[in-house]
Amino acid sequence: MPMPADTPTRHEQHGRYPEASTVEDFRRNLAAVQARINAACLRAGREPASVRLLPVSKTKPEASLRLAHAAGCNMLGENKVQEAHQKWEAMQDLSDLQWSVIGHLQTNKAKLVARFATEFQALDSLRLAEALDRRLQAEGRSLDVFVQVNTSGEASKYGLAPEDVAAFVQALPAFSALRVRGLMTLALFSSEAERVRQCFILLRDLRDELRQSAPGGICLDELSMGMSGDFEIAVEEGATVVRVGQAIFGARPLPDSHYWPGEVKTEA
Ligand SMILES: *Cc1c(COP(=O)(O)O)cnc(C)c1O
Repeated sequence: MPMPADTPTRHEQHGRYPEASTVEDFRRNLAAVQARINAACLRAGREPASVRLLPVSKTKPEASLRLAHAAGCNMLGENKVQEAHQKWEAMQDLSDLQWSVIGHLQTNKAKLVARFATEFQALDSLRLAEALDRRLQAEGRSLDVFVQVNTSGEASKYGLAPEDVAAFVQALPAFSALRVRGLMTLALFSSEAERVRQCFILLRDLRDELRQSAPGGICLDELSMGMSGDFEIAVEEGATVVRVGQAIFGARPLPDSHYWPGEVKTEA
């Protein structure tokens, strides 16, 4: 299918999104992001219902998360497990609120994720898969997982090298508490839209290839890719989950280097 090649990134907006401070702000921002997803779907000949918007609430205070929930968000993405766990504990009263952990996880923190998360998007080692599975079995829970792939080739980014994913996926049926859903990536952080797009194409091609040979019970339908600065390009290239923080919640108080080690960011 021919893809529009001229959709720009919006990374120049980074650090400049206005803070959402009322339910109305959240409703408006969610509707605006959804409209952009729908438009990207239209350009690519896709169904808008085939893309899930995952709002990312990292660094934001509990009060903001409650406003987002009131505006209709019932799953929130958090990058750091301790922060996510604290928020989960503080918001037990919102019984329909689910949590997706989207950032790198140290094996010794698998126990926390197993306790409260519905989804984990940054699976990148068998040691971690084993630790999560063991903890989940103990809790009597299961977890939706995405395998994180490093599509940008940057040493600072977490995730498996593309050539290592096939063997990794073959080993996953051993962990019965993990429900494998697909692949996740963070694209190159660049205003060069074409280079960003290549990261998304790489992930999709890898998924298409691995789907043929995936072992029984391992489902590789999902592609989690795209964030505030590049989700439209990701949708054009097949994203089924986009992880959007700043365009919904507003700019973050902390620089990205706090979350993505090695990244040098100038904040507005
Ligand atoms: C923070 C984060 C996002 C969202 O980034 P925004 O620029 O706020 O949209 C997406 N994915 C991961 C892994 C993140 O840590």
